[in-house]
Amino acid sequence: MKRGGCFCPFSINLNLRIMKNMAKSILFCLFCLVSISSMSQQMNIYSDFPGGNILIDKIKGDTIWVRPDLRDTEGDWFYWYFAVSNAEGRKLTFVFNKPNQFTKMGASISTDGAKSWQWQGGDAVEKNRFTYQFASNSEVRFSMGIPYTQENFDSFMKQFKGNRWMWQSALCQTKKGRTAELVKIKNPFKVPNMKVLVTARNHACEMMGDYLMEGIILEVMNNAWLKENVEFVFLPFMDKDGVEDGDQGKNRLPRDHNRDYSEISVHETTAALRKMEPLWSENKLKIALDLHCPWIKNVDNEHIFLTGSDNKEMERKQLVFSDILEKNKKSELTYFTSGMALSGKLDWNDPKKSLPKGDSFQKWSAKIPGVDMTTTIEFPYSYNSGQVISAQNAVDFGKDVAHAMELYLKQLEK
Ligand SMILES: [Zn+2]
Repeated sequence: MKRGGCFCPFSINLNLRIMKNMAKSILFCLFCLVSISSMSQQMNIYSDFPGGNILIDKIKGDTIWVRPDLRDTEGDWFYWYFAVSNAEGRKLTFVFNKPNQFTKMGASISTDGAKSWQWQGGDAVEKNRFTYQFASNSEVRFSMGIPYTQENFDSFMKQFKGNRWMWQSALCQTKKGRTAELVKIKNPFKVPNMKVLVTARNHACEMMGDYLMEGIILEVMNNAWLKENVEFVFLPFMDKDGVEDGDQGKNRLPRDHNRDYSEISVHETTAALRKMEPLWSENKLKIALDLHCPWIKNVDNEHIFLTGSDNKEMERKQLVFSDILEKNKKSELTYFTSGMALSGKLDWNDPKKSLPKGDSFQKWSAKIPGVDMTTTIEFPYSYNSGQVISAQNAVDFGKDVAHAMELYLKQLEK
């Protein structure tokens, strides 16, 4: 009965079905798709789907020791996403090998093939572990966040098929042959005076940026003034390969995508954007916005905030935009300018520390001729000043961001 060599009592077999990056791995069970058989049923634990990420260190009875696959990440990070099926009646405990692998809301769980997600709750996490009782053999997905991959984006974009205000094309092909999407919203009847650039997933694991982007797109398509007067370019997956492969992305070696905006870019998407931008913007780019998620712990990260620029004039404009957002926001998630990560306020946005690694999107875009305001929104994975974040309220907040852009751009026009 024993085939995989795991410590599995009760004649549970471990049967490796798929192994990714086997040569790199020195792990006990390797990672990815693992099948465990018992006398009565076969349970599967796997991550061989878009965005999937898990390493399995050990299985003993109903306890499974796991950890995120850091791959080419410098230092530690926390993104993981896996599925379990054929586990009816079992109560499995997943033990992570270290702290800081969960947000305040604990594991995120989907029982409908990643269409919708519910937080298990922070109270369910004890000593880096959580337990789940399986009611049926159907697949259950688990993640530290609310995953968003190309499949989500394709599904979202279907509603705009044939719409003459919207064009979908490609920024470029990635190293692994995938298409990095580019969406343009443009008045088909008039040349606009203003342009806006919005990017997400410069850090692959920071999926909430794409929920925000959906909200921004929805509001723009529903907002007569923005559609009439502003041309938008949206780049939903700056690290497309990382998103689909389930990479951390943050602190990627040899270069983090969000440090790849100076000298010679090593990534296809950042290189393509830097090449496209001068041709496209024509001195009309007014706002450049990059969407991120902060780290998962500490009160400094558990609220929505803008990242301040070390250029004081730029930071002043960011504060103006932030005040507009705070005062005109309609959706349920709270937002306060007082929570902004002003330059030098926190250790991680000390400009002296990030410079040697290369320019971020924000720093690069601030140098684009004609640009007025460039900033980063840091949107938490699960928790915003006492409020629980969902896919829907993230989309709704994105609509507020687009509305704030409208008001900000109208001020510029005066
Ligand atoms: Zn980031």
